[in-house]
Amino acid sequence: MTRSVKANDFVVSLRALENDGRMPVRRSAPIPEIAVSTAWVPEGAEVSADLVLEAVHGGVLASGTVSAPWMAECGRCLEMARGTVVAEVRELFEEGGGEQDMTYPLGEESVDLEPMVREQCILGLPLRPLCKPDCRGLCSRCGANLNEGPCGCPTERDERWAGLDILRED
Ligand SMILES: [Zn+2]
Ligand SMILES: [Zn+2]
Repeated sequence: MTRSVKANDFVVSLRALENDGRMPVRRSAPIPEIAVSTAWVPEGAEVSADLVLEAVHGGVLASGTVSAPWMAECGRCLEMARGTVVAEVRELFEEGGGEQDMTYPLGEESVDLEPMVREQCILGLPLRPLCKPDCRGLCSRCGANLNEGPCGCPTERDERWAGLDILRED
């Protein structure tokens, strides 16, 4: 028996497609180095694909959901932010697909979903990650984390009133 050199849990045999032209595929495994400058999928975290593969004219269509946890530095308070990428996918795999095309390559008897899953996760990573939607960020004066309470600096409203006071004095 031969074993594949690199174990990849996202390689799917297409033999089942020959019967009714459609098969559900559920896979979950870590994929290394999914990252953008603002956020990343933690090393070793499970990336999940919940897909239906369909034999279509010219190839195999994969549709469903790809998901993974992400981590990032909050864009406002710089604390650790976490969330989940959930990407709706509808991607075509075809012979000779890949790189320059909008499609992915298709093997003769199997298809490797990993490059697609990886790419869709990267596209789903947040470009402006926040630790929570209403993060208050850091005080622009003293740098205190305002999620932990007021820092004691005068607020912007105070400054506006201060401006009015000056006008009044004139
Ligand atoms: Zn934050
Ligand atoms: Zn402050």
